[in-house]
Amino acid sequence: MAFLTPRNFDYPAIQWGIWRAGGIAVPLCEVHPVAELKYTISDSGASIVVSHPDFVETLAPIARDLNVRLLSTEQLLGADHRTLPRMSPERPALILYTSGTTGKPKGVVLTHANLEAQIITLIKAWEWHRDDRILLVLPLHHTHGIVNVLCCALWAGAVCDMLPGFDAPRVWQKLVDGNITLFMAVPTIYFKLIGAWEKSPPEQQQTMSGACHRLRLMVSGSAALPVTAFHRWESITGHALLERYGMTEIGMALSNPLHGNRRPGHVGTPLPGVEIRLVDETGAPITSGASGEIEVSGPTVFKEYWERPIETKDAFRGPWFRTGDVAVLEGGSYRILGRQSTDIIKTGGYKVSALEIEEMLRTHPLVAEVAVVGKEDLEWGERVCAAIVLKEGATLSRRELREWGKERLAPYKAPSKVMFPESLPRNPMGKVIKAKVKDLFGK
Ligand code: AMP
Repeated sequence: MAFLTPRNFDYPAIQWGIWRAGGIAVPLCEVHPVAELKYTISDSGASIVVSHPDFVETLAPIARDLNVRLLSTEQLLGADHRTLPRMSPERPALILYTSGTTGKPKGVVLTHANLEAQIITLIKAWEWHRDDRILLVLPLHHTHGIVNVLCCALWAGAVCDMLPGFDAPRVWQKLVDGNITLFMAVPTIYFKLIGAWEKSPPEQQQTMSGACHRLRLMVSGSAALPVTAFHRWESITGHALLERYGMTEIGMALSNPLHGNRRPGHVGTPLPGVEIRLVDETGAPITSGASGEIEVSGPTVFKEYWERPIETKDAFRGPWFRTGDVAVLEGGSYRILGRQSTDIIKTGGYKVSALEIEEMLRTHPLVAEVAVVGKEDLEWGERVCAAIVLKEGATLSRRELREWGKERLAPYKAPSKVMFPESLPRNPMGKVIKAKVKDLFGK
């Protein structure tokens, strides 16, 4: 059953209803265009679409075209109780569509047992308890908002305070007014909160910073947290953000510690019950301290890609799920170098990490945002290209940037092509879409 509700009580009511009745829930995304909604409903083979009245106008024609029943949340939430079936934990519970850097999005099938394992590991590692109160600002078609925030809160018997969407002043107001104990977001959101803080008058800044001391934990993930943002957030709020690494297919896998030192630019160690290894290109485990692809196994790992047996088979090496992310283990803590397909750039015989170059470029005082990609090139294999968004009112020439970069980056890492767009293309989770950044440098 596909469903679309605003981010309020209706969401968990419908999701839990589907689960208790033995169905597979397919959450839709409120900002997806019609074509994408249609693709998700059709690919998942949903037999029913549940819609909040706010979305009926969009969903009714799609349901009609696909010949799928449309039910309204009002109808369902007012229905009589029925006897519910007993279910095996191995039964599929959720299909989440991955953003997919290449090809069409794939449906990631998670069973009840997978979800339980994903929730329990976070309950243990981050010591969730019933007195917690978390502010939900993330979309509810993605694992971060669904599992890490909503499901964990409900499992712990805690409160999930849901905002209809992200709005920096509103979030600050909630932090100042409320009794929030936990906050989880993506780096883009922390950037926006930093921006709103910087624009506030000094007395208000003090109140905002003071409010954060009441929170017991603030977490960042779903994309690399720039070291500059880690330090800036710490200076504003006193919180060393806990950065973790995960993926729709595996839930959360690596995390900095709840108690102890959180290393900026690193994602920590395996969460309880999660097995991790790094492998080289032949699939052999790495023991030397070199970088390699992260593989994950354990009960948190998803069952399959929905109706895609070939892709499912290709994604595993025995019990190990091949994440496609490259990392290195440094002093006992993992550092993510990026996606093998888009962030590991092969240039002039070297392999360089786009994330490392981005990290360096972000330390330039006039740079607000940056995305580095590799663009195919006959001579170099790939050329390092950087799309840089400058701070408001700033100007910077390519020559000035090159001069600055010379002292900080090895020549083969220095971007040979630079452009200054007004913003970077991002998905509804706030993640930069690297394929679109590549297009900025020509098809
Ligand atoms: P998604 O399935 O949409 O959550 O995307 C998962 C991908 O986001 C991973 O495969 C990584 O490439 C990336 N990712 C998640 N967390 C981090 C992190 N802390 N640092 C760097 N990349 C991350």
